[in-house]
Amino acid sequence: MRLRNIPGARENIQESKFVVSEDVIFDCPGKWKEIFGNDNPVRVEIGMGKGRFIYELAGLNPDINYVGIEKYSSVLLRAIQKMEECELPNLRFIRMDAEDVDRVFAPGEVDRIYLNFSDPWPKDRHAKRRLCSRQFLKRYDSILKSDGIIEFKTDNRDLFDFGVEELDFAGWKADVITYDLHSDEKLMVENVMTEYEERFSSIGNPICKYIIRR
Ligand code: SAM
Repeated sequence: MRLRNIPGARENIQESKFVVSEDVIFDCPGKWKEIFGNDNPVRVEIGMGKGRFIYELAGLNPDINYVGIEKYSSVLLRAIQKMEECELPNLRFIRMDAEDVDRVFAPGEVDRIYLNFSDPWPKDRHAKRRLCSRQFLKRYDSILKSDGIIEFKTDNRDLFDFGVEELDFAGWKADVITYDLHSDEKLMVENVMTEYEERFSSIGNPICKYIIRR
């Protein structure tokens, strides 16, 4: 997702109390308990877009801390605006490229990672940029606690098939693999829709999902 550049977006983000400033993100490993002021589990959405999914999850689960990561300021700004209307104490944002995610959390500091409708990067030579690639799984491996899980949803079948193939290379196992999440009553009980999920399921695209662990 890329919105038109909004003048001042970067400055607004830097000043927002809901954002962990870019100047200090690499000082954060081991400090997330301090940042949230409690020792609740920390769950991270990578590529959160405007933040609909993580904002709703944080509202539903006040005893869990959430961190939303988004690369673009103009997109992140929308999530901040939501927080300004109704603040949630258990949610923070970071503007960064997720390729540095393992420099922001300490080993085992993250309880769960969500990847929702990640950019497909269709060219083979860009495969390592896909958030479900073995290169990213390695980064997640270094920050997730030993029984931590990753949940990935997308309507892009090629990207999903690629993600499933990557699991073997990276030594991960699937607890759940579905190619039609919205027809699975059990999985839908706790499903929180993302903005893209709503958009693509409403035009009839089946939604794929996996839940994986080491
Ligand atoms: N997760 C949201 C949803 O499901 O509605 C947004 C999906 S949108 C297609 C993907 C988002 O991931 C975009 O906002 C994009 O900027 C962000 N993104 C892609 N690659 C990223 C990266 N390497 N680091 C951080 N954000 C990234």
